Formats: sequence, C-alpha cells, structure tokens
Amino acid sequence: MKICVMPGDGIGREIVTQALRVLDKVGARYGREFQTIEALIGGCAIDETGVPLPPDTVAKCKDSDAVLLGAVGGPKWDTIDPSIRPEKGLLGIRKELNLFANLRPATLFKQLADACYLRPDIVARGLDVMVVRELTGGIYFGEPRFDGMKDGERFGFNTMTYYEHEIRRIARVAFEAARKRSGRVCSVDKANVLDVSRVWREIVIDEHANYPDIELSHLYVDNAAMQLVRDPSQFDVMVTGNLFGDILSDEAAAITGSIGMLPSASLGDANPGLFEPIHGSAPDIAGQDKANPLATILSVSMMLRHAFDMSEEADCIEQAVEKTLEQGYRTGDIMQAGAKAVGCVAMSEAVLANI
Ligand code: NAD
Repeated sequence: MKICVMPGDGIGREIVTQALRVLDKVGARYGREFQTIEALIGGCAIDETGVPLPPDTVAKCKDSDAVLLGAVGGPKWDTIDPSIRPEKGLLGIRKELNLFANLRPATLFKQLADACYLRPDIVARGLDVMVVRELTGGIYFGEPRFDGMKDGERFGFNTMTYYEHEIRRIARVAFEAARKRSGRVCSVDKANVLDVSRVWREIVIDEHANYPDIELSHLYVDNAAMQLVRDPSQFDVMVTGNLFGDILSDEAAAITGSIGMLPSASLGDANPGLFEPIHGSAPDIAGQDKANPLATILSVSMMLRHAFDMSEEADCIEQAVEKTLEQGYRTGDIMQAGAKAVGCVAMSEAVLANI
C-alpha cells in the first residue's frame, strides 16, 4: 500500500509524524506493509516552488493508493496573491483526484461528553453521525452564475444542478458507508421547494433498490438541522448535496465541541482517497508540542477502513484512542479538571502503547 503524505503547514508536520508512527505500529501488529512518499502542498509548497500545488505533488498523489494530509495555511501567506493561496492547493488536489464524496464523522467519545454543547440527557443517548456530503456539484459549481447589475441595481444568482449520475454515485458511497456502520441512511434535501431536490430524492430512492439491507429515510434540510441538535442519536449516515452538507457537517462537528478530534475522508471512484483532520494548521500553537494528534490518527483509521478495507486495523486504532481518553490523557484543547495534561508526542505515545 502506497501512501502519499502531505504534512503541509503549521501543526501539520507534528500531527502527521505522530499519525505515521501509529500507522507503523498497526502495520507491524497486523503484518501490513505501508510505503510512504512525501509531497509538498500549501504554504510550504509556495515557499519552495512558487505554487501551492506543484505538478510533482499531483503526480505523486495519483501514483498512490491513498493520500494523508495534515493542514495548510497560516499568517505567513495571508497577504499573498489570492490565486496562489495555500488553500488553493487543497481545492486543487480534490479536483485533480475527482474526490466527489466527503465523509465527515462527528463522534462524541463518551469521555469527552463535557465538551459537547448539548444537554447531558441528549448526549447520553449518543452522538455518532457520519455526514456524507457531495463535494464537486450542486450550487457551488452550477452554471449559469452571475454577480453584477440588473434593472439598475446589484443582482446575483447561482444555480443548483445535479445530474442523475452525480446523485447515484454519492448515494452509493452513503449506502456503502452505512454497511460499515449501523445500516441506516437519512437523505437530506429540500424536495418540498426545489426541483433539483425532487430529482435528488427520486434517484436516491431508485439507487436504494440495490441496497435492501440498508434502511433509508428522508428529511428536509431545515428539519435535519433542527433534529441534529434535538436528538442526534437518531442518525447514522446522513447523505446530502454540497451546500446542505457544508452546513450540516460543520453543525455536527461543532456540536461535539472537540475540533482536534475529528477526521475526514474525501473519496472518488477509482482514484486514491484523501484523508485529513477537519481542523486547520493552528498557527497559534504550531511548533510547541501542543497540537492534538487524535484527529489525524483517526484519519489514518478512516484511511485503513475506506481505502484499504482493513476494518480490524481501523477498529484497533479507534479502540486505542478511546482507551487513551479513558486513561485520562488530554491535550490542551480537550483538557478537563483532574486529567493528565500531555502534548502532541506524549498523547501519541499513549495511543501507541494501547495498540
Ligand atoms: P484552525 O482549525 O487552524 O484553528 C482554530 C482553533 O482550534 C485554534 O485555536 C487552534 O489552536 C485550535 N486547533 C485546531 N486544531 C487543533 C489541534 N489539532 N489541537 C489543538 N488545537 C487545535 O482554524 P483557523 O485558526 O481558522 O485557521 C488557521 C489556518 O488554517 C488558516 O490559514 C486557515 O486558512 C487554515 N485552514 C486550513 C484547513 C485545512 O488545511 N483543511 C482548514 C481550516 C483552516
């Protein structure tokens, strides 16, 4: 298994280094061999090559079975020409690899229940939602779009478009993901108002015929946003379009209250998937051994599960993380009274010891 590793900027290298140690240990335990190759992306790529996504990086990613990313960006590049900002590297590689599905689990480890913004009785029912967001279509990319003047005043519009094939493939990703979880998918749309949503719902229902083992339900997006805070335990996998998914995946993540804990995966059809923590490069704590490595370690777990179909190895990492939290280890971002304060390296070593 060949993995292209892109540490990126800020805390990126610290967290990726630790996540790779975990990968090595799991590989040793299960007799798996992982070959890694490093590539530049974001600010560090700008410094070395003048662009945030050098062609060499794209080639290395395409030649790999999976891509592991730290984070990009930082104040050093904030005033740079917007066309070559570090974040362009991220958007660019998603496009190059045709990553149309974004999987964002929002899981609340019971040991961190205090960090959750919801009432304790709601939290007690559990929070383990996977938002599957369509990433390359919908209103963010639909044509025509317009920003200008009409009838003597400012006027703008965008177009929400979805082809059947775009809906089918994201629905398949959601159904497949549900098979690896509790077997339930909730499709989120606005079919009471939007024509494009009626097409969405019709195709999701049609594709569902191929997954009789999965339970499918539907919600309008306004209701889904409310249900997510009212009782998130009712959800397993939520599948939705680009705009609704952008908002719902952030809502689900924010509810957990622990940004340093959440991984993500972006998947295409045959291309390598991209695995990364949802947080940014945290320049305020970079280089100080303060970063929480768990989101990146859990991204490695997602990589094993979704890119390599190694669910036992993925489970092993998740259980080791849970045990580490159980033992009371906490980085600054998830610190609680009475817990054992550790830095990035010590937290990772505790996880390694639990594998
Ligand atoms: P951020 O996620 O980097 O940081 C927000 C806050 O959370 C900070 O206080 C930070 O210290 C803390 N934090 C984040 N990750 C943490 C971790 N693993 N452990 C402990 N604390 C953590 O968001 P920001 O400050 O808005 O952005 C900083 C830079 O990152 C910007 O340049 C932004 O463009 C970039 N960014 C990159 C990505 C990405 O690479 N995917 C995503 C978001 C932001």
